[in-house]
Amino acid sequence: MPAETDSRSPVRQIPTAYRYAVGDILVTAANDGHRVNAVQEGFVRNASLAEVVTALDAGGLPGGRLPITFTPIVIETGSRRILVDTGFGDSGPATAGFLRSNLAAAGITPETIDMVFVTHCHGDHINGLIDAEGRPLYPAAEVVLAEPERAFWTDRTEAARASGGVADNFANVARVFGPLQDRLRTVQWNAEIAPGVRAIDARGHTPGHTALILESAGEKLVFIADVTNHPALFARHPHWSVAFDMDARQSVATRRRILGMIADEGLRMAGYHYPFPATGRLARDGEGFRFLPAQFAMLA
Ligand SMILES: [Zn+2]
Repeated sequence: MPAETDSRSPVRQIPTAYRYAVGDILVTAANDGHRVNAVQEGFVRNASLAEVVTALDAGGLPGGRLPITFTPIVIETGSRRILVDTGFGDSGPATAGFLRSNLAAAGITPETIDMVFVTHCHGDHINGLIDAEGRPLYPAAEVVLAEPERAFWTDRTEAARASGGVADNFANVARVFGPLQDRLRTVQWNAEIAPGVRAIDARGHTPGHTALILESAGEKLVFIADVTNHPALFARHPHWSVAFDMDARQSVATRRRILGMIADEGLRMAGYHYPFPATGRLARDGEGFRFLPAQFAMLA
């Protein structure tokens, strides 16, 4: 991964988290950190580097440099406190791994999380489940994911024929989930994982990639996970496929379906790789969608 070119020392922000209500459900968005990609040919499989740089410029991101942020959420339903994805923990770039300190600043300690829901098994979403010694970082939590995602990443035939980054990811999934076997549980798509929280089919980015619909007291929010990576590229251009989308065709279909539902039904949304606090709405704009970020408010 290309290093930052700034010579000055990085400025550490004040630890923070952003809370918002969806009906009676409380959501806490807590940033794990970021990484800056100097975008290269092939980052978007079906667009040229020049087209991608133009799209970044249009999104206010000059110089072909794409900041990718990582924002897990905590969902509190009254009966459950669910962390959705975990960031990198100790196994990631120096610019990430801040989730637990940011949650602590919001008064949320790891012992009080009773479920970690995993949207999919990429390192930026699962590495924070365990520490470097393999100890669970959320000691009271069951770990829940969609059955198709578990099935794929534990399939020995698929593992044997994988190469490159996918082969590395199979090894990483075995490393992370090995110590967690006795607390893993799977659900089917459309299951309610907690009151008002439903897991939905968002396959394409990975074979079992899962989004969540939160619904309470007439309000509705879709946590899209990685249905798109950065919105300046993949909400604006939903037919573009980021190199991390394992099934490009399926991920485009999923993106059009889920972003279309959000825009057409006027729903609120949150995205793991959206600019912090990573929540807002989407509007249709030409062939794609425009992200309309939520405005900060002191009281949720
Ligand atoms: Zn991701």
